[in-house]
Amino acid sequence: MDVSEAEEVFPFDINPMYEGERIRKANLFAELGGQNKPSFELVLYEPDPEKIQDMVPPLIGPDLGEMEAGGAYAYAMIYKVYGKQIDKDLEAVIERRNHEYQGYIQGYMHLNQRAEIWVRISKEAVKKGLNSLKQIGRATIMLFKAELPFIEKMEATYITDEAEVVKRLAEAMKIYEARDVKSRGLHDEDVEEFYQCTLCQSFAPTNVCVVSPDRTALCGAMNWFDSRAAARIDPEGPNAPIPKGACLDAIGGEYAGVNEAAVRLSGGEYDSIKLHSFLERPHTSCGCFEVAGFYIPEVDGIGWIHRGSRVSDTPIGLPFSTIAGSVGGGRQVKGFLGIGIQYFYSPKFIQSDGGWRRVVWMASDLKERVKDAIPEEMRDKIATEKDVRDIESLREFLKRVDHPVVNGVVRAVDDVRITEGWGLKVAEAEAGAPTGAEAVVPAEGEPLKSIPLAQIMAAGFNSPIKIILKDADIHVGKIILKRRGEK
Ligand code: SF4
Repeated sequence: MDVSEAEEVFPFDINPMYEGERIRKANLFAELGGQNKPSFELVLYEPDPEKIQDMVPPLIGPDLGEMEAGGAYAYAMIYKVYGKQIDKDLEAVIERRNHEYQGYIQGYMHLNQRAEIWVRISKEAVKKGLNSLKQIGRATIMLFKAELPFIEKMEATYITDEAEVVKRLAEAMKIYEARDVKSRGLHDEDVEEFYQCTLCQSFAPTNVCVVSPDRTALCGAMNWFDSRAAARIDPEGPNAPIPKGACLDAIGGEYAGVNEAAVRLSGGEYDSIKLHSFLERPHTSCGCFEVAGFYIPEVDGIGWIHRGSRVSDTPIGLPFSTIAGSVGGGRQVKGFLGIGIQYFYSPKFIQSDGGWRRVVWMASDLKERVKDAIPEEMRDKIATEKDVRDIESLREFLKRVDHPVVNGVVRAVDDVRITEGWGLKVAEAEAGAPTGAEAVVPAEGEPLKSIPLAQIMAAGFNSPIKIILKDADIHVGKIILKRRGEK
């Protein structure tokens, strides 16, 4: 059927209000992709309009009517697009909108991007008449053409046959890789503008997504070239340029223009963002990041785990899903950070915090995936779940491999160099010169209640003490808000 001629009445509602709809297990008819099955989505530009059909070809693999209720299936969505104004640079831009538009479909939950997609179809939607993924394909094409009128023809091939998805996924990975490599030769200092992305503000209203040449989007789907192409074709769309303005901190990646954008985009919630910092006013994280980073105060280092990792636990005892809960929501969270996989390849990768010299742990499947991004001298110094199980064994590992955090990593805060490191603090404490965290460590046998609360709080992330208030009534007489550094 020619979609452009169709006036199809779908058995489901289509409305932006369904964006962010979650389908829980109790209401799950079928799961496509996600943790257990291969999946991807891909948009390909077709320059010859004769080679593209404006339609949804037959599905390859079982359709909804042939699926077992509660079953999990592989899933690929491959779109070919044609339009006189379209070129190859727009492929990734159009591809990222699949998440947005499919989110409008009631009873169809779409999460993530590229080879991480996770779709759930609700029992309710099936009961109402959703009986084929071709209906989803036709609704998706209709939405794309309504929202992006420069798309003149669009063909949607959906695949649920697992062997076919795996075969085509290998080709898709090469295409993603080629897009990523293209952006690695350009750096923040080479351009006058960065780009914002507001797509995720529908569920993370204070999210300030800034795409720069050295910091690809945390969802991994948009690099600087993609964002520029999106801004040109759709100037009123979500990817407006951000003039860089004055550089306020070259190491941390702080720019006056980005700070202005932070105020505007977050509704005043944030006034400063450092693009290449983990611990000091970091980039906000919505829910789409490919990788979650977490600070480990006990060793003064940083760990990373990615979405879809086979590793169930980190040395801090939390799985990806729990860490993701701490990172997401469009917040600037000191000690947690969401990034795109490509950011590991950036020469400015968390350079404000010491870069790779600050990384102490990675999930083994992530470490393997980005091993060519890791500087050779650090490859054997970063632990995985195969080396350590908890903080104690992580400490032992770091001492054994003589990890930089043991002797001190140079961190730059507002262009001031500070040498930090868990080993340094321990050495200072042993030498009787308590600093930061050690200042609040009770002596052997000293009860915790004798440590002043203010002292523990002042140590912040460096404090080795966790305060858990149970059954507490808290009365606050007065709250005084002060800017950082204000007396
Ligand atoms: S994570 Fe950022 S770049 Fe990616 S879609 Fe969301 S707002 Fe856009």
